[in-house]
Amino acid sequence: MLETDICILGAGPGGATAALHLANAGQPCLLLDRATFPRDKVCGDALSGKVLVELKRIDAALPARLQALPTQVPSWGIDFYAPNGRKLAVPFRYNYNPATDPAAGHISKRIDFDNFLVEQVRQRPEIDFREGVDVAATEPQPDGRWLLKTADGTPVAVVRLLLVANGAQSGFARQIAGHALEPAHHCAGLRAYYRGVRGLHPDNFIELHFIKDFLPGYLWVFPLPNGEANVGVGMLTEAVSKKKVNLRKRLAEILATHPALKERFADAERLGPVRGFGLPLGSRRRALSGRNYLLLGDAASLIDPFTGEGISHAMVSGRHAADWASRALAAQDFTPAFLRGYDAAVYNRLGQELRLSRAMQKLLDYPWLFNFVANRAARNPTLAETLSMMFLDLDMRARVRQPSFYLKLLFGGK
Ligand SMILES: Cc1cc2nc3c(=O)[nH]c(=O)nc-3n(C[C@H](O)[C@H](O)[C@H](O)COP(=O)(O)OP(=O)(O)OC[C@H]3O[C@@H](n4cnc5c(N)ncnc54)[C@H](O)[C@@H]3O)c2cc1C
Repeated sequence: MLETDICILGAGPGGATAALHLANAGQPCLLLDRATFPRDKVCGDALSGKVLVELKRIDAALPARLQALPTQVPSWGIDFYAPNGRKLAVPFRYNYNPATDPAAGHISKRIDFDNFLVEQVRQRPEIDFREGVDVAATEPQPDGRWLLKTADGTPVAVVRLLLVANGAQSGFARQIAGHALEPAHHCAGLRAYYRGVRGLHPDNFIELHFIKDFLPGYLWVFPLPNGEANVGVGMLTEAVSKKKVNLRKRLAEILATHPALKERFADAERLGPVRGFGLPLGSRRRALSGRNYLLLGDAASLIDPFTGEGISHAMVSGRHAADWASRALAAQDFTPAFLRGYDAAVYNRLGQELRLSRAMQKLLDYPWLFNFVANRAARNPTLAETLSMMFLDLDMRARVRQPSFYLKLLFGGK
């Protein structure tokens, strides 16, 4: 059986990022995943600008390497469809020029993006990466270490510090860290791949459709390489059960009947099954660490409650987890009090954004407000510019949260 100081459970974006930062610091670690890569993960596959920032922090050459891959497309903005059907085109950069400006976002199937990260992992001798290892049990030892076992009880490793990055269904997060699934802070999602969807934006704008009788849920269409598209729906789990929504049925109905979508999907072919997965939202602050462990990414419930973005947040937590793992080893201190520094570092970086997005998420309860902003923006270039800058500038997002923003819109001419 292996004995190690640091073990990372899960080699998705959170776990792989932590392993790579540890390797950069010269710190060996064990990285375990039950899957064998490349592997699929149910996701919208949209990579925000923050993903590129995090890749650069791992290795300055990584963003260019990702951008050169034929398995991704660059994206220049978002087309929002308000409940009244009006389209609001919001480029990530106002007045962008696709020939000269770098794209702010990218879209890549997770089977490819996660494998891109794992390929970096495979090149690092500091990382002992083992695939096909399903860790079914984690048992605390009297000295604080964790004994990891497979489902048949076979011991896998004894570890000093466990970095838990095993995703939205993490048994460790539920049973040991005490993060129960909270329907008010959890989203249900479905994803399907299609070929032949008509009318995708030439600059690969991602589409978010807020449909009147499907709120507070939304539907997305994200362009992919080779004329494919990632199509899915998401809705707060609380709303799914309260309204007794059958998401699969609704997705099929909307694509077949919605005036803005039915023509576009008339000749589209679905590739493979419609697959579902949960999104643990970061709309409530939780403890991210405890005795001899840190929680990362979805296991720490860090997904943006408005945009559903979780890849970059998992990577941010991976970077801080590597830092705090090194600090804990140097200090030989794995107590909850010491490791709480990790919680502070993660929320310091993501807390304000998560709070703002929580406020934006609430806007979905007011479709009229949404319609109003969409109507106004269609005629008001200043507003369109503000909304576009919101994606790059957090202060702009804070403005949209203020009542004065809407008053100015109402009375401010144009
Ligand atoms: C429908 C849907 C749409 C989404 N759309 C987007 C989007 O467009 N953009 C975005 O940024 N985010 C999106 N997200 C969120 C994003 O998918 C997650 O936030 C992200 O994958 C979190 O990364 P992670 O490393 O924490 O976990 P994961 O990517 O889930 O990786 C966890 C890893 O742990 C492994 N594992 C699990 N259990 C065990 C075990 N017992 N033993 C060993 N290994 C184990 C798994 O095999 C997996 O490789 C979406 C999520 C859903 C469900």
